[in-house]
Amino acid sequence: MFTDIMGQVRQKVALHNHSEMSDGKRPPDEIARIYEEAGYDALTFTEHWFWNPAGYYKTMTILSGAEYNIGGKNAMDGVYHITAIGCTSSPRIGKKDSPQKIAAAIHRANGIAVLAHPAWSLNDPAKVAAMKGFDAVEIYNTTSGVHHNCRADASCFVDQLACRGRRLPLVAVDDAHWYTSDHTRSWICVESDSNRSDALITAIRAGRFYASQGPEIHLRREGNRLVLDCTPAVEILFYSNVVYVCGRAVRGVDLTHAEYEIVPDTKDEKGKTIAGDRFVRAEVVDAQGNRAWSNFIEIGDETR
Ligand SMILES: [Zn+2]
Ligand SMILES: [Zn+2]
Repeated sequence: MFTDIMGQVRQKVALHNHSEMSDGKRPPDEIARIYEEAGYDALTFTEHWFWNPAGYYKTMTILSGAEYNIGGKNAMDGVYHITAIGCTSSPRIGKKDSPQKIAAAIHRANGIAVLAHPAWSLNDPAKVAAMKGFDAVEIYNTTSGVHHNCRADASCFVDQLACRGRRLPLVAVDDAHWYTSDHTRSWICVESDSNRSDALITAIRAGRFYASQGPEIHLRREGNRLVLDCTPAVEILFYSNVVYVCGRAVRGVDLTHAEYEIVPDTKDEKGKTIAGDRFVRAEVVDAQGNRAWSNFIEIGDETR
């Protein structure tokens, strides 16, 4: 638990980890000790096809979790890995179930369904946009960028999904297996006074968090501007559906504030509407290369 630069109490939460209970390389109590010593308030064991119930390690919450992976190893067949967070009982899921069925079963067990590492899985945004059950998506997955893996960053995927109307909350996770260089690197900072499981799940479901590897990022709308405050950064980046916007990337030293003007709708010479921004999200990068990611801000029509 910490108080952020805006005075808000936040919980540091890890949503995707593997132990010796599935294909991880360390026992659960050793992993819990590593995360507790790194200042985490909650940790989730998301073992493959094995539901781990909620509990505690000292004062750190263990959120209930599991990971359901279908589609084998070839992206052309459709590879989907879905984590179940906060279920109050084991979701009833079969190995031939579709991604949407898996998400529905997770919901019936009162949990959150998160689409894991869509960049690593080469998920198709058009296909995922047609599925209704996901509550969040991993914008960054540490393990997908270390050892024998690449494609950790799913920012292009989430923006393409957002262009299709699906602005899902964005989480960063470790998905740690080896606990060499793949642990305690990517997490979410949840806006909550308590690290109780029910409080965290309610806040995550509502998108009240940002994802981080160290920096703080606070994005809000004021009229026709997006206002960002952060801990010292070298890059502040605003992303939206409009492909070119002058001023969307701010670069410098010790940046702690930036503003972005929402692109309004315009008309072409024939009177046809050219759409402006429909969504905006932001990222910051600190001098060490650590990133933080805001959630999407939906842009309505009131400025037009
Ligand atoms: Zn996976
Ligand atoms: Zn995993």
